[in-house]
Amino acid sequence: MKIIKLHDLYFKPYINKEEISLIVKFLANHVKVDLPKGEVPIFVGILNGCFLFAADFIREYDGDCEVSFVKLASYQGTSTTENVKELVGLNEDLTGRTVIILEDIIDTGNTLQEIYNIFRDKNVKQLKVATLFFKPDVFRKELPIDYIGKSIEDKFIVGYGLDYDGLGRNYPAIYQLTTQPKMKNIVLFGPPGAGKGTQASLLKEKYNLVHISTGDVFRFNIKNETDLGKLAKSYMDEGDLVPDEVTINMLKAEVEKNAEAKGFIFDGFPRTESQAIALNEFLSEKGEQINGMVALEVSEDLLVERLLERGKTSGRTDDTDESKIRNRFNEYNTKTAILKDYYQAQGNYYGVNGVGDIDDITARLASVFDTL
Ligand code: AMP
Repeated sequence: MKIIKLHDLYFKPYINKEEISLIVKFLANHVKVDLPKGEVPIFVGILNGCFLFAADFIREYDGDCEVSFVKLASYQGTSTTENVKELVGLNEDLTGRTVIILEDIIDTGNTLQEIYNIFRDKNVKQLKVATLFFKPDVFRKELPIDYIGKSIEDKFIVGYGLDYDGLGRNYPAIYQLTTQPKMKNIVLFGPPGAGKGTQASLLKEKYNLVHISTGDVFRFNIKNETDLGKLAKSYMDEGDLVPDEVTINMLKAEVEKNAEAKGFIFDGFPRTESQAIALNEFLSEKGEQINGMVALEVSEDLLVERLLERGKTSGRTDDTDESKIRNRFNEYNTKTAILKDYYQAQGNYYGVNGVGDIDDITARLASVFDTL
């Protein structure tokens, strides 16, 4: 999931569709369990925002029910307006019925107040309210809310039915208002020896980006005999990955050192799924994101030869012993290669043929970088 732009504003991923689906299931079950056996409720969705929530909710609701929709326009732009409009569209006779209101979000409670006022003289048997989202920090009423899917902070959200000035309702996940991203952040990906370091050095100049190679940072620490270096050495000598926590903290520190950067080329990071998740969260907190994973695709056999060749001059002990090299590939294939799927699932993976002249490969990479 990437930052999206609607009209003039930017929104970052906030609640993914899997989580939404769990919340909706939980609400539907909870409502059902609380109703007397044989009771046929009428669900009343408050349009427009609730249409996706209501559709998913009633599919999850396991029992007979009726469904109706009413309209009470309540949002204009990003702030809640005080003058809630009148109710449109309720034709059913609700006398003696159990009515359950379905709301997408309750914030100040003004709409909810309006709903209570309207239903007060409809002689219903029971009126309950189920809301997908609730903003406790801005709720100003004493009214009961029977079912709350998730309490969220008071930041403007869009997606899953919710809009900003008409746009955003069709996104399957929830996005939160953020600032315009300023960086171009690229993960340069590929197996050991694919040429990430060489290409990153060329591309960082062309795009004015900061190149962070976690392998280089570890080697620098080993050379300077720091505590981090001593720790990393035991893993690196064997071709094993350094533990995630150590690597993630180090990566964050490197990014913080370059707070003014126009963006980063991450080389050798992330190498595990938890590193990828940590990187996403870390950048998201800054209102930034990974623009794309650009992968150098080269077959393994070619790479072992390349690495042994490099080992003759690189001074890297992990490049000279074939069994250590094989172990690095094993680590890559078991822990790192899956990141292709991770970024691909977000529509954020770009494969580039990594075989050929260095300049040709740089040109291929640049043609992808230009689009990100
Ligand atoms: P590289 O220079 O990218 O080939 O990295 C050399 C070695 O550093 C790897 O074999 C690992 O032992 C360690 N290393 C570099 N980056 C990471 C990372 N993101 N996670 C864990 N270990 C890493």
